Amino acid sequence: MPDATAAANTATPPPTVRFAPSPNGLLHLGHARSALVNWRFARARGGTFLLRIEDIDTTRARPEFEAAIAEDLAWLGLDWVTPVRRQSEQFPDYEAALSELKKLGLVYPAFMSRAETARKVAEAEATGASWPRDPDGAPHYPGNDRGLSAAERRRRIAAGEPHTWRLDMEAALRGLPDPLSWTEHGTGPDGETGTILADPGAWGDVVLARRDVPTSYHLAVTVDDAVQAITDVIRGQDLFTATAVHRLLQHLLGLPTPRYRHHGLVRDPQGRKLSKSEGATSIAALRASGLSPSDVIALATQEAGMES
Ligand code: GLU
Repeated sequence: MPDATAAANTATPPPTVRFAPSPNGLLHLGHARSALVNWRFARARGGTFLLRIEDIDTTRARPEFEAAIAEDLAWLGLDWVTPVRRQSEQFPDYEAALSELKKLGLVYPAFMSRAETARKVAEAEATGASWPRDPDGAPHYPGNDRGLSAAERRRRIAAGEPHTWRLDMEAALRGLPDPLSWTEHGTGPDGETGTILADPGAWGDVVLARRDVPTSYHLAVTVDDAVQAITDVIRGQDLFTATAVHRLLQHLLGLPTPRYRHHGLVRDPQGRKLSKSEGATSIAALRASGLSPSDVIALATQEAGMES
């Protein structure tokens, strides 16, 4: 007779998870950790492990980095279901989501450049005012153009003025029936776990479509997690606070909310998060130095809370 736990387990459909790197550099140990946690989670439960290439940043994404991602993952012994979803090939999906939000009146064309925004913030701060900052430390968008008339927006767009599309956060929050939350099966950076109240307002008017591409990280990841029927989003704790934005977009677009499982980051000896731009040692370099896949797996998973 199967015991109650086994019966409960068989009642839970197998999970679908994804590893979603950006092909703008070589993978490092932090990526290896994320990929391994996802792959092991799926494997232990008879689930599906997907690879998604987050290449909306067309100026930085390179085919040779995408090839290196596949090579590194295969060398580590991971396999994934194909075809791989490449975000640069899914722009119509993101445009459709953005146009839903336009219809709801929750997005606006934002014409201020980064430099103009910085100037405006500096001016305000020079008077002693404190300017709100998002969880990553970036100042909130001033939102001066939030109230432009429809005619004025049309005129400026038709005149070819560069603009992003931003979420009108206040309007989006005003329409919420209840506070939003998600279930955290891992931990946030401060040990948060269980039911987490989402605080998307902390991010201000986030960008949903950039100047050069019809989407942004937040919009693309939310749409893709739904399109790919991801049941469990497993990723580094650096994205824990961004989950609030994804949760809000799921609500606004009527998309399901996956379970979330954030994991600790691999840190350098100084305790800093590894980063491609800071030249963190790549998996390819570790391989070239003679380490075996199991050596690299051991380095990537130590202290990771790698229960599957
Ligand atoms: N593309 C993101 C990164 O490389 C990961 C996005 C996610 O897992 O939600 O950090």
